[in-house]
Amino acid sequence: MAVSKPMNWRRLSRVVVDEMTCITFLQGVCMLRQNFKCGHCHRVIGELRVITRPSRPNEYVFQCTRRICVDSRRKSSMSLREGSWFAGHHLSLRKTLVLMYCFVRKLCYDDAIIESSMSDEEDNDDTEGAAAATRVVKTSSETISDLYTYCREVCSDAIVHHSRQNGGSKIGGQGMTVEIDESKFGRRKYNRGRVVEGHWVVGGICRETGEIFLEIAESRDAISLEDIIRRNVETQSTIITDCWRGYDQLGRSGDYERLSVNHSQNFVDPLTGAHTQNIENTWWQIKRQLPSTHSRNANSFDLQLLEFMWRRHNKASDDLFAVFLKDAASLYGTF
Ligand SMILES: [Zn+2]
Repeated sequence: MAVSKPMNWRRLSRVVVDEMTCITFLQGVCMLRQNFKCGHCHRVIGELRVITRPSRPNEYVFQCTRRICVDSRRKSSMSLREGSWFAGHHLSLRKTLVLMYCFVRKLCYDDAIIESSMSDEEDNDDTEGAAAATRVVKTSSETISDLYTYCREVCSDAIVHHSRQNGGSKIGGQGMTVEIDESKFGRRKYNRGRVVEGHWVVGGICRETGEIFLEIAESRDAISLEDIIRRNVETQSTIITDCWRGYDQLGRSGDYERLSVNHSQNFVDPLTGAHTQNIENTWWQIKRQLPSTHSRNANSFDLQLLEFMWRRHNKASDDLFAVFLKDAASLYGTF
């Protein structure tokens, strides 16, 4: 069952109606293997068996049932999840898929809990007990946090892969203009204090192509800034920055033409027409999207920025969920 029409809640509910339907769907999008070749008799095993162990309810395995193969030392069975994106955790595939969808749709934790909480029998395919317990197992916010992090890793991997394919992530070039600005993300530690927690992020946007780069700056000094710009912006570009002195050396090097805007005086330089409104608008979009309580952990902040870039990169897609599944499948090599 390939994704043909854009996914929505109605279609998703058909996919997650039971675990086997969900498996078929995930095999269709190459996120799970369709079969396994017995290491002893080399028969291709396509049908799945359910093994229930107390630690892992409902583990699906491909298993060659020939006695001689089971008794041999060769690998005669394989877990469905082995080597896949789902190998690291033991949530049901249905719940995982719902949470992946919640992530793509940017649901907050509270909404993701509501959408992914299933009753015991819904989650375990336990049709015998269906009449009995109807206790709904609430998804914990830790589970959602873990899964959202897994999902962000898919986004960051895809965006890094994409920029490598395009010969590095540099934007701009001769005849093009890149607006550059730095911004502090995070909150003031005290309402009036000078101590600010958070990260400096340097970003640039190419006016002609709309491409952006974002990078966390180790510190806000001239050397860090210059390194970041040289890594991300093609030489011969015209760069527009604010008047901060940290950018001065870059203009003098002759590698870039530099225009600046003095934000304390005007938003658009009256002589050159220089402005950095595009990049400032991008800051505003990012700040609006990041959770206000985002972790002070630099790694998780990095992931969130890359998630933003992934969403921006794919904004023209009419089925972001299909893009996400494709990226997740390619992360592990397509089955
Ligand atoms: Zn066999």
